[in-house]
Amino acid sequence: MILKELKEMLIKEGASDVGISNIHEYLPAELKMFKTCITVAVRLSDAIVNEIVDSPTFTYYHHYKAVNNLIDLLTLKGVLFLESKGYFAMSVAASQSVHGKDNGFSGVLSHKIGAVLSGMGFIGKNNLFVHNRFGPRVRLGTILTTYEPEEKIENHIMEPQCGQCNLCIISCPAQALRGSTWYFGIDRNEMIDPHACSTYMKEKFKYIGRGQVCGICMRVCPYGNEVKR
Ligand code: SF4
Ligand code: SF4
Repeated sequence: MILKELKEMLIKEGASDVGISNIHEYLPAELKMFKTCITVAVRLSDAIVNEIVDSPTFTYYHHYKAVNNLIDLLTLKGVLFLESKGYFAMSVAASQSVHGKDNGFSGVLSHKIGAVLSGMGFIGKNNLFVHNRFGPRVRLGTILTTYEPEEKIENHIMEPQCGQCNLCIISCPAQALRGSTWYFGIDRNEMIDPHACSTYMKEKFKYIGRGQVCGICMRVCPYGNEVKR
């Protein structure tokens, strides 16, 4: 009931989808007090993403930040809701790298863990979460809570659905994507060279948001690339 109420509230407030997973066994030691993960997905505008060709646009950068802000607001509301019910809860920032962790390329917890456990989608060769409906054109947020429903939550890990497609790999200007097919537990470095990706963005796109965004490997993916009127 609590999770149903929370999900309805998050969708009403602007989430495009909400996934629930049993994350406890996948959490690092410092987060082991938490049992359940609520993943908030907010889709990106197709019109804005479609403008990306060989570089991000100023509009995309602003949109990226606006969607992150919405996600942070939604996950904050989720935390306040769960705490009002008597449970501990914390949100993981939509976009944040932690100094000193994985050379500054990782946050507190990857949003993709909860997202993929919840069955909302899979991890593509672009190392992005590919949502069932929106493809990689989503941003994610995470709420962790000590709340556990009486009925155990079953995780549904979806196998990657890239098949023979290599569009993101051949489109990456930094040649950062390694072409590996994701499996649970794969080392992130087997999927992507985060240093090559980050260095390219900082050098080539520094005039747009100081080189924090690119978006090419998201833009080219056929998943979620709907034709609209
Ligand atoms: S964000 Fe850009 S540079 Fe990084 S992997 Fe994707 S296409 Fe390559
Ligand atoms: S562009 Fe192709 S290979 Fe890359 S994530 Fe999408 S479907 Fe997979």
